[in-house]
Amino acid sequence: MQTLWHFVGGNAQSGKSGRFGDVFNPATGELSARVPLASAEEMRGAIGVAQAALAGWAATPPLRRARVMFKFKELIEKHTDDLARLVTAEHGKTFADAKGSVTRGLEVVEFACGIPHLLKGEYTDSVGGGIDAWSMRHPVGVCAGITPFNFPAMVPLWMFPVAIACGNSFILKPSEKDPSCSLRLVELLQDAGLPDGVLNVVNGDREAVETLLTDPRVAAISFVGSTPIAEMIYRVGAAHGKRVQALGGAKNHMVVMPDADLEQATDALMGAAYGSAGERCMAISVAVAVGKVADALVEKLSPRVAALKVGPGMDPDSEMGPLVTKEHWQKVTGYIDQGVKEGARLVVDGRGLKLQGYEGGYYMGGSLFDNVTPGMRIYQEEIFGPVLSVVRLPDFDSAVDLINKHEYGNGTAIFTRDGDAAREFTQRVQVGMVGVNVPIPVPMAFHSFGGWKRSLFGDHHMHGMEGVRFYTKMKAVTSRWPTGLRAGAEFTMPTMK
Ligand code: NAD
Repeated sequence: MQTLWHFVGGNAQSGKSGRFGDVFNPATGELSARVPLASAEEMRGAIGVAQAALAGWAATPPLRRARVMFKFKELIEKHTDDLARLVTAEHGKTFADAKGSVTRGLEVVEFACGIPHLLKGEYTDSVGGGIDAWSMRHPVGVCAGITPFNFPAMVPLWMFPVAIACGNSFILKPSEKDPSCSLRLVELLQDAGLPDGVLNVVNGDREAVETLLTDPRVAAISFVGSTPIAEMIYRVGAAHGKRVQALGGAKNHMVVMPDADLEQATDALMGAAYGSAGERCMAISVAVAVGKVADALVEKLSPRVAALKVGPGMDPDSEMGPLVTKEHWQKVTGYIDQGVKEGARLVVDGRGLKLQGYEGGYYMGGSLFDNVTPGMRIYQEEIFGPVLSVVRLPDFDSAVDLINKHEYGNGTAIFTRDGDAAREFTQRVQVGMVGVNVPIPVPMAFHSFGGWKRSLFGDHHMHGMEGVRFYTKMKAVTSRWPTGLRAGAEFTMPTMK
């Protein structure tokens, strides 16, 4: 069993707090590593290091910063398989899926390579006689990122490449359930030529996070995780004068209209509900079957769900790996029990799956509920497992109404051949990311990612231009040279005559 480390000031540092978390291999249930959990003092030390590195990096021309990103991009490409293997080993998702998530993170690095262009401000000559005005984007300072277990490569990569390209220094506090990928990413960025102390990885739990939220030297916090923690991060961070973007949980609905291509909708639901064992914030967990489509949809889905190939993530035949931890497995199982108690019809039951040779792993088959209603807890709460609920509704209006009443608003999709219905859906639905015949509409790196309602606290979405805005502060300069007009002292608001 390995003992992991922090990475601060360009060096691996062993934990000094004496506290550790356990990291498991979900495919076997074996303990694979101990991760140090930083004390407040250790975190304060790392903040000091990031602050010391800030001025030099902020003054480095954006083109030089971009060159480090270009090199980082090459190194990620070269090491994609190693990074994906680390993701699979600690998260459990299939290797092919893990590779896809590394690539989606890599695309943010590619976006950050364009930072000299992205940081360009606006310029107006002659806003007054002999007076010019322009705007500049400055780094905000020491930034921090706190990330969830479900995307150990992609979500950290949503944050630090953009923050660092903008001239900030950064402290990443990855999920303590699967921290190894972050430790590898910081090494690669260091190999790409990043100066010591610009990116630091500090492992930890609540104590480390609370230190980041309250230390006055931290200027901005990016968070991705569950809604109760996201809300707390936003409140405490904002109360301490920081910029905060805090992305939370989800309950994503996919509306299947009676005119939808049923084969296409079924394929889409299979991938979107059961891919990564449903542990995706953009997973579809509710299928809204409109009108007469419901019976046919459930009939098509049920044999496919029952036949899902569940196995270790490194087995190329597996379509779905194990859940991340035993506790999470118990939580998802508890929701299935709850759904049965609440009176939903359990069409396919994924509980009780055992894999020969992998008896200790956290496996579960896919589950499918029919006749789920909005009053049920399995409808209201995020399950974050391979469980799909079918809600039957009579028409389009009631489908939109249902989605708009849900407390979460991360992603949604509509499957239809009717352009009018699709357009109206995109206009009326109260959700941040919308797909039309696309089940998981995750925006590309050069667009921005974020939900509405209780799926996001703060003003900015992540990556794309929203990321550049979040990680920079604007300065507006108005300039006149001494040879310009001399108007004498002015005691009134200057206006254009
Ligand atoms: P989580 O909220 O338990 O943990 C997220 C991070 O917060 C971790 O780094 C963890 O160490 C830290 N944390 C946990 N409890 C804390 C506390 N009491 N005080 C301070 N810090 C704390 O989330 P998770 O289980 O790792 O991830 C799954 C959740 O993340 C799901 O709800 C999922 O929807 C959400 N998620 C959302 C998005 C999005 O873009 N909206 C993306 C991925 C995951």
